Order: sequence, then C-alpha cells, then structure tokens
Amino acid sequence: MNRSYNQLVSLEGDLREAISKDQLSLHYQPKVDVESGYINGLEALVRWKHPAKGVISPNEFIPLAEETGLITRIDEWVLYEACRQNQEWIELGYAPERIAVNVSASEIQKDDFAYKVQRILAITGLAPEYLEIEVTENSVMQHTEDCIRTMQYLKSMGVSLAIDDFGTGYSSLSYLRQFPIHYLKIDQTFTKDVLTDPSDAEIVKAMIRLADAFKLGVVAEGVESEEVLAFLKENQCQFYQGYYFSRPLPPEEIVHLLTKQSVYKPKENPRSS
Ligand code: C2E
Ligand code: MG
Ligand code: MG
Ligand code: MG
Repeated sequence: MNRSYNQLVSLEGDLREAISKDQLSLHYQPKVDVESGYINGLEALVRWKHPAKGVISPNEFIPLAEETGLITRIDEWVLYEACRQNQEWIELGYAPERIAVNVSASEIQKDDFAYKVQRILAITGLAPEYLEIEVTENSVMQHTEDCIRTMQYLKSMGVSLAIDDFGTGYSSLSYLRQFPIHYLKIDQTFTKDVLTDPSDAEIVKAMIRLADAFKLGVVAEGVESEEVLAFLKENQCQFYQGYYFSRPLPPEEIVHLLTKQSVYKPKENPRSS
C-alpha cells in the first residue's frame, strides 16, 4: 500500500519483461481426498522469479497485473502451461486427474475466454475433463452475467468450475444456485481457526452442508494440521488442500510425490481411446 508510484511503474516494467523472458513458472499443490488421503487433482499456482528481488508472490503481482492489463497474457500463459504439463503427465501415466487453473475476473468475463480455453485444449491435446477453472467468489459477483455465460459454455465443453475463496465474498444463495459450478473451495481464513473459533467451525460446517445441498464438491483450503483434517473428516468435507499434506511444489517434486504415493496407475490417454 505504501509503495510509491515510481516503484509500481518499475515493477510493471519488470513484469512485462518477466513474461517475455520466461521468469514465470508454475508450482502445483495437490487437492486431496479427505477420506482416502489420495491425491485427487492439482492446482497450478504461478510464481515469478525476479532476477534481483527473488521470488515474488502472486498476491503481490497479480493485483498489479490486473490493474495494468498484463493479466491477460499471464493467465493465458498459465492456462497453456498447466494444460501442456498435465497432458504430458497423463501421457507418462502419472496424473489422470484434473489440473485446476486460477483465472482473474477480468479474463473470465471476456466474450472470447471460452474460445481461448478451447484453443489451448486443442493445441495441448488435453481433454476438457482434465481441466478445472477456479474463479473467486468476488470476481463472479462483480460480473455476474458475463461470467455465468462463459461458465455455462465452459461447462458444456466438459471443463469443471470451482468457486475459490468461498465465504469471503457476498454471494447470496440465490446467486449461487445460478452458477454452473462443480466445486466450492472454502477459504483458508475459515479453515485455519476451526479448532479455536466456534463460529468459524459453524461456518465451515454450514458451507459443507450447503455444498451438499447443491450437489457440489467441497474443498477446504489452508489445512495445516492433523487436527483440522480430523475436523473435516468428522464433518464429511470431501477434499482438502494445505501445507499439512503439501506446499505447492515445482513439477519435478510433484512427480516424486505422485510416484511415492503410487496413487496413479498408468492409464490410457482419453483422447486416443
Ligand atoms: P488461491 O487460488 O486461493 O490459492 C491458495 C493460496 O494459499 C496459494 O497461495 C497457496 O500457496 C496458499 N496455501 C495453500 N495451502 C496453504 C496452507 O496450508 N496455509 C497457508 N497459509 N497458505 C496456503 P499463492 O500461491 O501465493 O497464491 C495466492 C493467490 O494468487 C491465489 O489464491 C490466487 O488467487 C492467485 N493466483 C495464483 N496463481 C494465479 C494465476 O495463475 N492466475 C491468477 N489470475 N491468479 C493466481
Ligand atoms: Mg485457487
Ligand atoms: Mg483460495
Ligand atoms: Mg486467495
């Protein structure tokens, strides 16, 4: 907040360069089945390795990218790279599971967004069933009509949709019903304190029941301890993500994790069958 205008402008210049000079990369965080402990999918999270400043968190540069319009190229690159990587893993027999990609509000509301996704799937060879798009609750609330249109189209293509950071926005139940979504992701601010804050515990339970009533899958974010996981199990939350299982990891370490768990058996490429 107290960064000067000049610093912002220089950071913007650096970010432009980062995109053209391959300084962006993806880390992947497993989404885990609460009951079985199996990895059910992976979420791609962008990382920026700044030549002088080191690794910069997306919480810092995504808002800047959104303000300057650079987000279009970042989200496009992330989408492409995540699809390409997942298809490679599928072909190697590692990961016949979904890859989730975060998409900014400004992108999903665009008329051509679904077409862009379709094109990237075609180029990378990834079947739509293996892609999931995450949009935050706030972003769909800001551009409801346009978002719903794009989401409906993506859903009809076979892509899954998740509402990210659920509970932090202002969506009413009637809105939620209109969204063509498959998953709710409970924001980590609620998950974190379920053991110490009784009202957070009630909120998490209510969100799990809500997802159930709407026949949606539910994912708890930010699970850092065995005790929180036990709470989720007791309350029949289906999936979780968090440091307790794994931090977001670079691709080579994710492969290691998948192999170690031996969750994945070689499967046929769905497109060749
Ligand atoms: P998100 O999509 O809600 O992702 C979850 C964030 O929580 C990630 O932060 C992840 O590293 C972190 N996290 C996961 N487990 C734990 C835990 O147990 N404890 C704690 N304290 N944190 C945990 P990250 O990678 O810094 O990303 C921050 C946000 O930036 C993401 O929140 C997402 O909204 C946005 N973002 C990340 N990658 C992209 C991208 O490619 N495109 C766009 N548009 N946004 C992105
Ligand atoms: Mg996310
Ligand atoms: Mg989230
Ligand atoms: Mg977030």
